[in-house]
Amino acid sequence: PGGIFVARQNSAGLDLTDPVAFDAMNSARDQFMTRSWQAGPLGAMASGDGAAQFVVNPANPDDQVGSVVAASAEQVRDAVMTATASRWGAVLVAERAEMLRRVADFYEANAPELLALLAREAGKTWADGVSEVREAVDFLRYYANESRDLTGMPRGPFVCISPWNFPLAIFTGQIAAALAAGNPVLAKPAPQTPLVAFRAVQLMHAAGVPEDAVQLLPGGAEIGAALTEIPGIAGVCFTGSLPTARRIERAMAEHLAPQAPLIAETGGLNAMVVDSTALTEQAVRDIIASAFQSAGQRCSALRLAYIQEDVYERTLDMLKGAMNELVLGDPAALKTDIGPIIDIPARDKIAAYIEARRSRVLHQLTAPESCTFIAPTVIQVSGIEDLPEEIFGPVLHVASFKGDDLGKVVAAINGSGYGLTFGMHTRISSRVKRLARDVHVGNIYINRNQIGAVVGSQPFGGEGLSGTGPKAGGPHYLPRFTLEGSDLQSG
Ligand code: GLU
Repeated sequence: PGGIFVARQNSAGLDLTDPVAFDAMNSARDQFMTRSWQAGPLGAMASGDGAAQFVVNPANPDDQVGSVVAASAEQVRDAVMTATASRWGAVLVAERAEMLRRVADFYEANAPELLALLAREAGKTWADGVSEVREAVDFLRYYANESRDLTGMPRGPFVCISPWNFPLAIFTGQIAAALAAGNPVLAKPAPQTPLVAFRAVQLMHAAGVPEDAVQLLPGGAEIGAALTEIPGIAGVCFTGSLPTARRIERAMAEHLAPQAPLIAETGGLNAMVVDSTALTEQAVRDIIASAFQSAGQRCSALRLAYIQEDVYERTLDMLKGAMNELVLGDPAALKTDIGPIIDIPARDKIAAYIEARRSRVLHQLTAPESCTFIAPTVIQVSGIEDLPEEIFGPVLHVASFKGDDLGKVVAAINGSGYGLTFGMHTRISSRVKRLARDVHVGNIYINRNQIGAVVGSQPFGGEGLSGTGPKAGGPHYLPRFTLEGSDLQSG
């Protein structure tokens, strides 16, 4: 295929081990490290009179990153009317795709500013920031390309409610999918990360996406609640916690048309099985990345490692040693492995969880004092039944299992009801097949870490309590944003 639908190619990102490339990006980013951004509603709506709220750096509350004005109830209503009247659905598929590709180019061209915002507003380390920009770009190009194969019609105004842990990638992925399918978007960013969202929407508009096709409505839970109660909304795309997904589902059932879909990605209680044939060094490296990268603030993150009893002590010893090498601190510094928790309430919740299990803490690093940090922590449990809920931070649980009990381990993992990611470290190929067949999760990783699904290659999403599907970054995602034949037939 020629024209604008080029063969899929993921963004190259930035090689952080290349000193020349890194230095160039670092000095380009520098000019944004003291800037202050002002954000507010974007789109075609009455001007509001809300008060500006400060947005601070989670790693350093003295660093004021900017301020944001929340959307008013009137602006929310205006925005929905504007979206309803938008002609975006009538724009040619190829033209829509071309605009999304241009947004991707604009993101790459503005990577230094986006990286500064990701570090200062969201506490992202260099590695996390770079992969986040890359993933956002990948979503834009991937959905632009996929839109060529759509057969369904646009549904209408879509509400996109996104989380702070991927304030650019997931924010952009939701919007790009809705836009590629021809639906105007009302985007509500997470209250912790409105600035990068604001900049992203400005870049979308600059790239030619009309103002009425993407509108930004910053604010708290009240904005999401208002949006999901307006009958003209044709669908909701949400990533966040399970309780919030349930609230949205109830509101939609009560107020929206019955065929309006909820596309939700929620949490997980993600496990890894390490058996006695695993390469310990490799397993330890992958446990650390899966549990502690992004300070554990990924829904894909490893929460519980089941380690076979005959290698349990050895693996734990090596894990503790490797953890001791992790660098916690300022996410803006290249040497930092683990940055802050997003805000004080989140930090307090994780800290209280750890304190309540103090007698079972096997290892804990020391956190930098003045900031919103939680030190990576290992807690011993007997199994997944001991995990009451998803703890969104750098807390790894470990349990030992007997080789004969692997079936019970699988049953327990499935019994949690969640089904997002699962990892395994083993060199027995029949075991790989068996676990891959029997563990009911969306994403399975074999002899590697279990985070960082790549758009187009590893569609990401869960089963059971972890989400509705279809998986983001995969071929089934876009059709859900359209009206297919099956939606149009009645009973
Ligand atoms: N897609 C991300 C990953 O594979 C996780 C997304 C999330 O945390 O919501 O790590």
